[in-house]
Amino acid sequence: MKISILGTGYVGLVSGVCLAEKGHQVICVDIDPEKVNKTNQGIPVIYEKGLEELLVRNVAKRFLATTDLRKAVLETEISIIAVGTPFDGDEIDLSHIREVSLQIGNVLREKKDYHVVVVKSTVVPGTTEEVVQPIIEQTSGKKAGKDIGIGMNPEFLREGEAVNDFLYPDRIVLGGIDEKTLDCLQSLYSVFEGVDVIRTKLKTAEMIKYTANSLLATMISFSNEIGNLCSSLGGIDVVDVMKGVHLDKRLCPIMSDGLRITPGFTSYLEAGCGFGGSCFPKDVKALIAHGKKKGQPMSLLESVIRVNDEQPLQILNILRDSFTELKGLRIAILGLAFKPGTDDIRESPTIPILKELIQTGASIQAYDPAAMQEAKKFFGEHKITYCASLSQAVDGVDVIILMTRWEEFNNLPNLLVNRKDTPLLVDGRRMLNKLQFTRYAGIGI
Ligand code: NAD
Repeated sequence: MKISILGTGYVGLVSGVCLAEKGHQVICVDIDPEKVNKTNQGIPVIYEKGLEELLVRNVAKRFLATTDLRKAVLETEISIIAVGTPFDGDEIDLSHIREVSLQIGNVLREKKDYHVVVVKSTVVPGTTEEVVQPIIEQTSGKKAGKDIGIGMNPEFLREGEAVNDFLYPDRIVLGGIDEKTLDCLQSLYSVFEGVDVIRTKLKTAEMIKYTANSLLATMISFSNEIGNLCSSLGGIDVVDVMKGVHLDKRLCPIMSDGLRITPGFTSYLEAGCGFGGSCFPKDVKALIAHGKKKGQPMSLLESVIRVNDEQPLQILNILRDSFTELKGLRIAILGLAFKPGTDDIRESPTIPILKELIQTGASIQAYDPAAMQEAKKFFGEHKITYCASLSQAVDGVDVIILMTRWEEFNNLPNLLVNRKDTPLLVDGRRMLNKLQFTRYAGIGI
């Protein structure tokens, strides 16, 4: 099928490249000409495992990037909206959604053939029906359900695993105003065989996405609150506690051969320094705001956000308990991205910690296998020493703070083994074995 994707960010680019890999003809549109130029040269503007290889294989064949939205919409059968939906402090910011809907509508006015517009961006329930559809109908002069189709297809890819998640989805959720739209979406996704497909209403599709993200965020904040209590009580390690909890057969079932299944969600039931990224914080906040607006307070989710906002402070508390003075302390920060496998630092828990440490006058050496450029853009180059390697980052420091679960950080015990001065390791993710370190501290211990 011929598809245009409006917005070539994390979701737009990964979706576009993967749909091209699966045999569709894809045109990705963005307002940023630099992004478009680089993409057309086979250079992904984001870091994602496997993305560059797929882009290089498909670009100029089944995949093209452009700033020309009109041409892209006219030449395709389906337009997928993948622009950003940030949280503006009070509610979801739909300005990009409104703008792109207006642009699509204007182009559809001159198009004769049936066309389907699909919202892939995460939008609060009701947005596709009450915002996108009326704008497109008004600007195009066409009737949804007759001349055009309107759909909602939330995206569940995880940054760091985005290509794999897109190519091997666990579910495909399709919302549509009518059967014709849903049939069109289903044929778009027919290239993914054997995947559970849900055909539903626009609003339900929107709600599924928020509910999924809110549940995962809730599990994280729950685990963090338990971890914080373990720290306060003393003599209890949250890692031992959660191990005992995971062994409940309702969480990790025992199969007939006696072996246990460890479902992926148990990784959300572990204490750490909090969730970040471009989705969980903004989506949970947007749902809370939407609930409030509709007269339904979301008190559990409000607590989820509060616990998460305060969680990075646990790291600072550990430092303050361990050192009388933070000024002049030499600190290695390991991990700037909000999670491993990505260069995305949006809402990373490292940000509030770095800001506070810079304020206190600590001397900071930072290292991340992928996110150094993004961090330089955010923090500038003056207040932080950016290190080229893990060993350089931990060289001569008093404290090492581990903030992101990068695989590479498993090398820390080897790197520190012959050191005479033993730095304190503060494990913000509880990913390392505490017995391998002389001086170890962490969340929930
Ligand atoms: P992003 O900010 O990385 O990308 C959005 C892109 O849209 C930008 O490149 C921007 O230049 C472009 N854009 C804005 N207005 C435009 C217009 N009028 N025409 C063409 N392009 C335009 O955002 P993202 O992380 O890809 O997220 C997009 C949506 O997908 C959001 O709603 C987000 O919540 C959702 N989502 C994101 C993820 C994720 O892991 N990042 C996962 C699932 C869902």
